[in-house]
Amino acid sequence: MTTIQNPREKKGEHTLGVLYDEGKVRRRREWRGVKDTFYDYTRWLYLVSVLAKFIVKPRNVKGMFRYRWMANYLAVMHGMDKFTIGLRDEPLRITHTAMNFVIADVTQAIDNCFRGDRRLGNDKAFSDRCVLTDENAMTAFMMGFPNVKAILREVPTMFAANIFNQFSTMHYLDVAQQNGLPGDVCPMPEAEAGISIGDDFCVLGCCAVQVNTTCDGSLMGNGVIAKRLERQYGIPTFQLVAPMRHREEDVQDYAAEDMKKAIAFVEEHTGQKWDWTHYFECAKQVNDATRKRLAQLEINSTPYPQFFGSVFSLYNDTNYMGNCGRDRKFIKIDAKLMKLAEKGYQHKRMAAKEYRHRCIIWGVQPQYCIDMLYWMLQCWGVMPLTDMLSMVNTRMIAEEDTPENREQAYYDMAWLNENMIMRNRTHGGYKVLVDELWEFCEMMHADMVMMWEHMSCKALTGMHGQFEEQARERGIHLVWVSHDLCDPRVYTRQAIRDQFNTYMRTVMLEEPIDPSIEILPDDNAW
Ligand code: SF4
Repeated sequence: MTTIQNPREKKGEHTLGVLYDEGKVRRRREWRGVKDTFYDYTRWLYLVSVLAKFIVKPRNVKGMFRYRWMANYLAVMHGMDKFTIGLRDEPLRITHTAMNFVIADVTQAIDNCFRGDRRLGNDKAFSDRCVLTDENAMTAFMMGFPNVKAILREVPTMFAANIFNQFSTMHYLDVAQQNGLPGDVCPMPEAEAGISIGDDFCVLGCCAVQVNTTCDGSLMGNGVIAKRLERQYGIPTFQLVAPMRHREEDVQDYAAEDMKKAIAFVEEHTGQKWDWTHYFECAKQVNDATRKRLAQLEINSTPYPQFFGSVFSLYNDTNYMGNCGRDRKFIKIDAKLMKLAEKGYQHKRMAAKEYRHRCIIWGVQPQYCIDMLYWMLQCWGVMPLTDMLSMVNTRMIAEEDTPENREQAYYDMAWLNENMIMRNRTHGGYKVLVDELWEFCEMMHADMVMMWEHMSCKALTGMHGQFEEQARERGIHLVWVSHDLCDPRVYTRQAIRDQFNTYMRTVMLEEPIDPSIEILPDDNAW
């Protein structure tokens, strides 16, 4: 691809290495010029206010001492800084708008967990209106229950905690393995199993719905967690089972039937009736989110991408999985993000000194605990256009309330569930995992693919040879970067970055744009 130079002189810091040292946090905050530093500071204050509002509640203070994973939230501000390195103008505002919203959403999730938790708030009336929902589910089966809360307790306990502190899961992985669980599975479900074994999940809800990710680790973890929920806490647990080859026509009737059963299960345990009017309102919102995400991708397919990186993926994750059209707050944020992206595009805003390569990020990513995508951009000028986790639903679902659409709705909910972030690609066969990647490369005008090789995600790594062969045929630069998701003991941050550095120097024969961050002393940082 042709290198694009930023016509604007970058305000503030030119070399980012000055910000890092051996400590837990950065040496100091980034200087971005007066206007952007001031904006960044106001967002810092906003996050302080979100956290302050949370911590003034006595039961939340109690939660800080009861739950080990809560300590990770001391690193929220540092976690936010990971996603904004080198950013200015609209890309900075987009990243803050999206990620601040995600943080506020997670804070609300923790507050809900503590409110219903039998050990803390013990608000029984509230808890009886809650359904524990697997973090690996699109919450589509909750779209017709306006008076029921979906509680995704794994999100604050494991997933979000790991965004802020790369070491957050280590204790729970050790607990799982000390109790005889195998160590060669994905650390994400294994850590969740460890949290359950260590009895470190909040206990609330009148029932639970678990969704299979169809990988060995997820099936193992769900079994352990379901047993504790049902046998110890008396929380009935439904298994919503997404088919493996989810694009095949012959599995759709089964998936829609299973969706009906999940809804009937929630009705039975909550005493609430499915509300079609509410369902179709949520369906409209899902369609609106899809239209806006596709529009963002269209901007990213031009020379001036605006909303990109881990935060693009984290926001989509929150919008589809946790929200699924149920929370009206997303409408405003989606619209704001769109407006900022359009403005940034019109002004040809760039997020780095130059763009040398247009890159699709594929595979399951540890980018939550490492600022890899922003680093690739600032260090090597490699623009992360989009990632595997953001390539979810692309089609419109039925949104008018008619008798035919009420039947179609079960298929649409099943489709959303089958297209759950991560599972839709890692466990749908070679067409969704390998073939569609090349279509996205074409659509986004990418000349490079950065392949996260998550060594425990076997369905994905099994395709290694096919990716190699097909990338070569198409003349796409394919950079393999191995990691073990949320276990930094296997691959440290620098071990991850070194794989990229080596490729850029030895294969691409390039020199970094900012050599001061090629090697960083941040392996011990949160
Ligand atoms: S990353 Fe792979 S192995 Fe881990 S939970 Fe997802 S699909 Fe399963």
